[in-house]
Amino acid sequence: QSNATLEKQYKEEMTLRKKYWNTIEDMKGKIRVYARCRPFAKYEIERGCSPVVRFADDTTLELNTAHGLKEFAFDAVFDPESTQGAVFEDTRNLIQSCLDGYNVCIFAYGQTGSGKTFTMTGSDSLPGLTPRAITELFDGIANTKTSETKVTAYFVELYNDQVVDLLWKLENRTAKGDGPKLDIKVDSKKMVFVKNVTTKSVGSPSDLMELFNAGNGMRHVGATKMNAESSRSHSIFSILVESYNTTTKKTSVGKLSLVDLAGSERADKTGATAERLKE
Ligand code: ADP
Repeated sequence: QSNATLEKQYKEEMTLRKKYWNTIEDMKGKIRVYARCRPFAKYEIERGCSPVVRFADDTTLELNTAHGLKEFAFDAVFDPESTQGAVFEDTRNLIQSCLDGYNVCIFAYGQTGSGKTFTMTGSDSLPGLTPRAITELFDGIANTKTSETKVTAYFVELYNDQVVDLLWKLENRTAKGDGPKLDIKVDSKKMVFVKNVTTKSVGSPSDLMELFNAGNGMRHVGATKMNAESSRSHSIFSILVESYNTTTKKTSVGKLSLVDLAGSERADKTGATAERLKE
């Protein structure tokens, strides 16, 4: 009897935890916009460039424009000294939301060379949001003793208005064409899914990271004046987390989409022509 009471109370507390946690996350803003400013690149220092961005406080930056000083407010701003860890700190909580069955999407926007890939992916020594989110996700799963969790992922890019299945390309390297026709749809629970996309099951953070790196290698890249090798496509790496709670007997599906957009530069600045211009 005591067990049954405890189990009932536990279920109630679990439901409340989920509700409060995600209410707080929603209150911070369902859509949040952060600005990150990277340090000067070598070529900028060599050209004697001087900074035009001033960090007024944690949420405001000022730009020295041709029309005078302009102020911009964000949910948070990160100056050139900000670390990969500090940038991740603000998104860490969203990984729990994903485990709770919510859809989370994080993406980077900016012109080529502004630091999107550095922020979303980073390097082995300075890992960005994606590897950190993957580690956090699997840590979260390991700490949830009451659920059986399945992790799957798909990886697509949007290139010249076409959705390309990077994992299909990975498995069919020698095949011609792009594989089955993909369709973007919304299911009955309002989750966006890609019909016919290759979805892979993964069991560890390193499996998932390997899948991400391999898929990344299949993306379209091309050189413009703004960067030697810039991404000409939007990449969308989606991690699906299906949790079956053995106590409540309920299944929830959350999705974490990590998006690295193609450069947002104005076409006339890039010196691009023909195929590059079209991209
Ligand atoms: P994008 O993806 O927007 O084209 P990148 O992420 O490739 O830009 O960044 C361009 C260059 O600047 C890369 O060499 C990257 O390592 C460097 N970089 C970007 N952001 C930072 C940062 N916050 N700290 C140090 N180096 C950075």
